[in-house]
Amino acid sequence: MELDSIRERLSAADAALVDALAARQRLVLEVAQVKASGTAALRDVSREEDVLTRVTELGRENGLDPFHVTRLFREILGHSLRTQETLLSPGRAAGISVLRVGYQGSEGAYSYLAGLRHFGTHSREISYRGYDGFEMMLEALEAEEIDRAILPLENSTSGSVTPNYDLLARMSVAIVGEEIQEVDHCLLALEDVPLARIRRVFSHPVALAQCGRFLSTLPGCEVEAFTDTAMSARRIREDGDKTQAAVASEEAARIHGLVILKRGIADNRENFTRMAIVARRPEPCDLRVPAKTSLVFATRHEEGALLRCLTVLAEHHLSLTKLESRPRPGMPWEYLFYADFEGNIANPEVAAAVRELQSRSSFLKVLGSYPSRTSAEARPAEPRPRARVTSVEEPQAPPPAPRPKSTGDSPALASREHRAEDTVIPISPGVTLGGSARPIVIAGPCAVESLAQVRACARMVKELGGSMLRGGCFKPRTSPYSFQGHGYDALDWLAEAGAEAGLPIVTEVMHPRDIGPVAEKAHMIQIGARNMQNFSLLREVGQVHRPVMLKRGMMSSIDEWLNAAEYILAHGNQMVLLCERGIRTFETATRNTLDLSAVPVVRERSHLPVIVDPSHAVGVRRFIPPMARAAIASGAHGLMVEIHPDPKAALSDGPQALTFGMFESLMHSLDTGLKPQVEKGLDCEAKRMS
Ligand code: PEP
Ligand code: MN
Repeated sequence: MELDSIRERLSAADAALVDALAARQRLVLEVAQVKASGTAALRDVSREEDVLTRVTELGRENGLDPFHVTRLFREILGHSLRTQETLLSPGRAAGISVLRVGYQGSEGAYSYLAGLRHFGTHSREISYRGYDGFEMMLEALEAEEIDRAILPLENSTSGSVTPNYDLLARMSVAIVGEEIQEVDHCLLALEDVPLARIRRVFSHPVALAQCGRFLSTLPGCEVEAFTDTAMSARRIREDGDKTQAAVASEEAARIHGLVILKRGIADNRENFTRMAIVARRPEPCDLRVPAKTSLVFATRHEEGALLRCLTVLAEHHLSLTKLESRPRPGMPWEYLFYADFEGNIANPEVAAAVRELQSRSSFLKVLGSYPSRTSAEARPAEPRPRARVTSVEEPQAPPPAPRPKSTGDSPALASREHRAEDTVIPISPGVTLGGSARPIVIAGPCAVESLAQVRACARMVKELGGSMLRGGCFKPRTSPYSFQGHGYDALDWLAEAGAEAGLPIVTEVMHPRDIGPVAEKAHMIQIGARNMQNFSLLREVGQVHRPVMLKRGMMSSIDEWLNAAEYILAHGNQMVLLCERGIRTFETATRNTLDLSAVPVVRERSHLPVIVDPSHAVGVRRFIPPMARAAIASGAHGLMVEIHPDPKAALSDGPQALTFGMFESLMHSLDTGLKPQVEKGLDCEAKRMS
């Protein structure tokens, strides 16, 4: 009885939510009408940030999880943006009352889901039609049996869907839109049986390959390729065999009445497919919408031909977002190039660039200009952090440096002589390190102890405006009897906590064999102080394409440190950043002595970014905040600090872990105390002391 009454009230609450959403959507339409007559850009990211900040703050006051509120509102804001985009393009597919959309596969396939999202804001009726193959689908488009087709072009883990590029060149079609579909593979079965009972798994071969690692853990289980993910879900239902399972989307489970045995089974968490929305003819795209243009061209058979073509884009300041080459049908060893760049052909300057490109190529076809889902402007807004680090006056351009050391005949790769400008390292979308980018804060526990522990840290870091999550999985410990880290379990927890909070992660490797697997999950690899001169480790990280944070050895000179970086650079990896973490001196009051003068020295000698880890330097919680502020003032490109939800219970480095409260006030002080000038920061400090 009691449950019934609560459920009734829940239903009423749900109805109120839907009413509120409908009211919001009506206002969105009003906004769209006002915008339609103006010239202002459709999207206002700073306004979206305001909205997210306000609602998460309101949520917090009402005891709601800010991450939950952010996720919900991102979806709501995304929907509102799509609605406005659709309304601003009344010419799109004009005259069609029911829009017929084709996709490959059956209901619940990822293309189908992309269609639902893409066309969800169209006010006209949409009818969906599944096709067995892509070519059949595009033939149906040419034959006017459908008005739009959803064509996957690339996947963030398996790469380009090359046959579909060939279809774009061969058939008479155009691109009028794009959609990014998150691919979240689940294992679906008839009933909730233990994983060990599954004997056969069906899915599309690409999906099976993407879940290879998980599938290999199922004992005595066969894997069988099937037409597509959603079809395999249907087959499980039809076969009625409880020992069979399919790899498909959550939506496919819902449509075919299956249960989800396990979610997120892909080897690589960040799995997205970019789909083109294809029509028979190109359609104009509103200039207020951030747009991309796709074209296909062939170069003349002469020296430097491709370079000359691409230079046109650079000269017109058009940023190339994708370049794909495919064999030219019937012309062995000649190629067609597919290029996407940010820009709208409706803009006369872009049109001029394309004409110029045409004059330099032997063939060129514009596939279309359409609203971009991948450009920086299309990236989702974030609520503003409760505190954020603002750059103190950017340390001036590198001063004329004394001649840096050379190795043999050529200058050292780490030196300013080799590269005068600062190296800027992109870590993840939205996080860059080095140059004049805002100094970033990396924080997290010394060691990853449990999912709950690292998750609590991740949320704190994100909320307070930190940019990256740290956590040791393999711990270098002085004593073999101390806690050595939870290894690969810890890596999974760290990756999960980072992904949930939207933070890239960094973790230390100690053995060459761990570099590959760690590089797959971590955005940055740390080489710890004790391994700064482990040359075989340096050689190996020099061969992966992942940023490497090289900590200064506690007994190493700056020169030795730069030479260690040289090992990594010399093996190919140019994404190296240096981390000052204190050196051994005769002083015993602190764990090490923080050598802050290393920061300007390194910045003068090297183009590599340098960050400071005050935690391992001083080893005493209360001395960390002032040294962190001093590090930023000294010109560091970032900070790394250790935090812990309960430092007393920490399994390693407890005495130097900041409590969440201390971390919060540190972040605030970085934001306010240092903003105008260093002197002011010192003033505050003095006042507090007096
Ligand atoms: C760490 O950052 O976890 C660490 C062990 O630091 P260091 O190598 O500087 O001692
Ligand atoms: Mn530590």
